[in-house]
Amino acid sequence: MEVKKVLLTEDEMPRQWYNILADIKMNPPLGPDGQPVTPEALAPVFPMNLIEQEVSSDRWIDIPEKVLEVLSIWRPSPLVRARALEKYLDTPARIYFKNEGVSPPGSHKPNTAVPQAYYNKVFGIEKMTTETGAGQWGSALSFACSQFGIECKVFMVRVSFDQKPYRKSMMEAWGGKCVASPSTETNAGRNALENDPDTPGSLGIAISEAIEAAVSDESGKTRYSLGSVLNHVMLHQTIIGLEAKKQLEKIGEYPDVVIACAGGGSNFAGLAFPFVYDKIHGKNIDIYPYEPTACPTLTKAPFVYDHGDTARYTPLLPMHSLGHAFVPPPIHAGGLRYHGMSPTVSQLVNEGIIEAKSATQLDAYKAGVIFARTEGFIPAPETNHALAGVIDAAKKAKEEGKEKVILFNWSGHGLIDLSAYDKYFAGELYNFVLTDEEMSASEKVFEKFPKPQIIKNR
Ligand SMILES: *Cc1c(COP(=O)(O)O)cnc(C)c1O
Repeated sequence: MEVKKVLLTEDEMPRQWYNILADIKMNPPLGPDGQPVTPEALAPVFPMNLIEQEVSSDRWIDIPEKVLEVLSIWRPSPLVRARALEKYLDTPARIYFKNEGVSPPGSHKPNTAVPQAYYNKVFGIEKMTTETGAGQWGSALSFACSQFGIECKVFMVRVSFDQKPYRKSMMEAWGGKCVASPSTETNAGRNALENDPDTPGSLGIAISEAIEAAVSDESGKTRYSLGSVLNHVMLHQTIIGLEAKKQLEKIGEYPDVVIACAGGGSNFAGLAFPFVYDKIHGKNIDIYPYEPTACPTLTKAPFVYDHGDTARYTPLLPMHSLGHAFVPPPIHAGGLRYHGMSPTVSQLVNEGIIEAKSATQLDAYKAGVIFARTEGFIPAPETNHALAGVIDAAKKAKEEGKEKVILFNWSGHGLIDLSAYDKYFAGELYNFVLTDEEMSASEKVFEKFPKPQIIKNR
């Protein structure tokens, strides 16, 4: 039998994460005074051990034994060859994917939820607050908190709260608490409801609520957690790409093309950054983050300083942004409905080391259904955007008659998203493309902010 999947033993799990900040220089995040934020300023929001990781420029960071123990519930994740998909596409390309859907919550997100809960626990924190889009992150953090005996409170974007009730059930099964955002529990939530009582909500609003809930807790034992965007999140996710490298090595393969979907950038960074390292050091690889045309942060939005949340509680981050007040259209890939993007991923796009692309909602679902009918697993709506890219790359390899090796991240399964598939089959899903007017309206919010420098590392 030909190789279908490559598995690593637990002994072969990476013992260190790769930190891309050792290899690229970045604009610093800025505080309200326009000066670089100090670690102390972040202390009410995050535990100091995670803040240290956030600003570290050590290339390799040890993964604590207790974290490896929990990750080993499902890691190392399989590297799978998508032979049936290749055959269906009649492509000379060889297509491989990391199956991150095998974790308990069903996505890559617990790769960072587990270390975040661990570092909070070690620091003496008793409760964590967070936001969630489609519910993947909220369920991942609830799972991780249950492993370390920490309370978990989740503000879930209203449109997804209504579309995906079972994500809330999962959070509750792990002992977490989940409310729809905007809620009436915070000033940020109440303001958003006053502005628009029928708002579908947004990640930007939900982040504001979760930060407010953490910093206003007088016990001092509550901290906030973010599931994407920040440096330490990208760091924790690199275990995906580090495993993939070992797995490909075992069968004598190396990717020509690396693809993942990008909402805040974490599953993309997780798979791609170890290969970005190789590219910086001379390898020739095409690396593509795929985003939805409805929320085209990397492909259309400017590189600016902007807040990570709508109520402007976060520092100013140097990133591609549609504006912190932007409320993305209610597409069924809640995890990709974020106005900003990881600063490290943004920087790599600016430098041309990676190239951002976008897919429409309908192309994404079409690709997802092809995948389900060939490889069997039903992908998350977010993952479908990566699949649209994979199909494009495989077609291009066919046109060029080249045996390309395509590696992509299968970021999660869609078993809690089946109502969206129902809508797709009923012809009730639509494409959203942002107009220039919508873009320029949302860009007004940066006018008063400082401008980031254009930094070239190469
Ligand atoms: C949250 C999520 C995403 C998008 O978030 P990133 O931080 O960009 O990875 C993608 N896929 C799945 C399955 C998700 O749950």
